[in-house]
Amino acid sequence: MDYGDYEGVMGLEVHAHLLTESKIFCGCSTKFGAEPNSHTCPTCMGLPGALPVLNKKVVEFAIKLGLALHCSINPRSIFARKNYYYPDLPKGYQISQYEEPICGNGWLDIVMDGKTKRIRILRIHMEEDAGKLVHERTIDTSSYSMVDYNRSSTPLLEIVSEPDLRTPEEATAYLKALRDILMYLEICDGNMEEGSFRCDANVSVRKKGDETFGTRAELKNLNSFRYIERSLDYEIDRQIALIKKGGSVVQETRLFNAEQGVTYSMRGKEEAHDYRYFPEPDLLPVTVDEAWVDEVGKTLPELPMEKMERFMKDYGLPRYDVEILASDRELAAYFEAVLKLFPEAKTVSNFIMTEFLRELKDGNISPKDSPVTPARLAELLTLIKDGTISNKIGKEIFPEIYRTGASPREYVKKKGLLQISDEGAIEGIIDAVIARSPREVADFRAGKEKLIGFFVGQVMRETKGKANPALLNELLLKKLKG
Ligand code: ADP
Ligand code: MG
Ligand code: ZN
Repeated sequence: MDYGDYEGVMGLEVHAHLLTESKIFCGCSTKFGAEPNSHTCPTCMGLPGALPVLNKKVVEFAIKLGLALHCSINPRSIFARKNYYYPDLPKGYQISQYEEPICGNGWLDIVMDGKTKRIRILRIHMEEDAGKLVHERTIDTSSYSMVDYNRSSTPLLEIVSEPDLRTPEEATAYLKALRDILMYLEICDGNMEEGSFRCDANVSVRKKGDETFGTRAELKNLNSFRYIERSLDYEIDRQIALIKKGGSVVQETRLFNAEQGVTYSMRGKEEAHDYRYFPEPDLLPVTVDEAWVDEVGKTLPELPMEKMERFMKDYGLPRYDVEILASDRELAAYFEAVLKLFPEAKTVSNFIMTEFLRELKDGNISPKDSPVTPARLAELLTLIKDGTISNKIGKEIFPEIYRTGASPREYVKKKGLLQISDEGAIEGIIDAVIARSPREVADFRAGKEKLIGFFVGQVMRETKGKANPALLNELLLKKLKG
């Protein structure tokens, strides 16, 4: 998007729910969707006297992400109390990190129109989530609210970027790349609907060429890529219009109304000092030695960007393909497993991006649970390649193979779908078609060459789509022209 003489400036705060079994400061389960308040204990309900104990897995996950984002891992970091009252925050404060977070100074590369741009990461810190309020209204319109503490004290990493993003598209690309990494690392499921990956966006605008930043507004709780892009675009436009009219942006927290496509003011922005941060007295400083960082470093998988580069270089695939194939670790593994048995990258890629992904998405299935194994897909592609079946039939039977998990070779045999590559057989059908279509033959010979489609269609109908298309074309032309 283009904003004329102005440009947007954005820094994002992302909250990622961690895939630990238990909460950050107690042993309660983190499972989503359980009976309300069934995963609670005195600690996560904030009862007086209950003490927090740090979950080591959370620190490990923070180190993992820190390394993947090229951050420095601080040997010593501390938890802090962020004080504010809210009914879903039973202690009256949130345990977070403030002055000394676990990771700092990293970066994440995004690719826009083939160009790489580096977005700096300011910090990553560990914190606990709040519970959830459920607002109900009864038929007689009296309303009440209930609180569910299952989410209270589930572990989060907050990833804060520098204000390096300039357009809503860049912001979306950054978020997608970050989400891919979290999922690759298997530390967050990336589920935006369930709130496992949420974003607050800080937005300001300035004249192009200006060195200083404008005053920012913060957009809260953006939870879909589409909304994020729309709300940022709206907010940038709003601020520019305001400034052009001689007004000025106020620092505040705003929300996005998706139905109307507008952002509106929720509250004046609180400053850090409003929270009265102070070091959490119930938890020791977190110490991370080099050996631990090294050990975690050894568990890092190949990351999405590296994989994309490798797929382009080694397999000669276009960026469009690799962005789809490598954005999901399992899908990438599936692709490479097929490739081992059927080493034609572009053919495999095409089939996966269309027929295969369509079936997976329809059933919301992950690649590793696909009823069509890599071996089966390679088998199908081989049948197409060696001419046993046509490409068209290959595509047509895929949903059925997917549903039944059948061997493509056996399925094709059983259903009599073998491609007809026998010249004599095809010629016989062509002769019959020509004999009963004298008008079309004459028109074709008089120069209406488009009619070739008519003849192909007739023969294909007779053969139920099984005639070898290349051979059919060749024979047809010979007969029609000769
Ligand atoms: P706060 O607690 O005030 O939200 P944080 O440090 O958590 O502060 O987050 C600040 C975020 O705002 C960072 O992502 C940073 O990049 C971004 N930011 C800071 N100044 C601006 C600005 N003028 N315009 C846009 N984003 C900004
Ligand atoms: Mg903030
Ligand atoms: Zn608990």
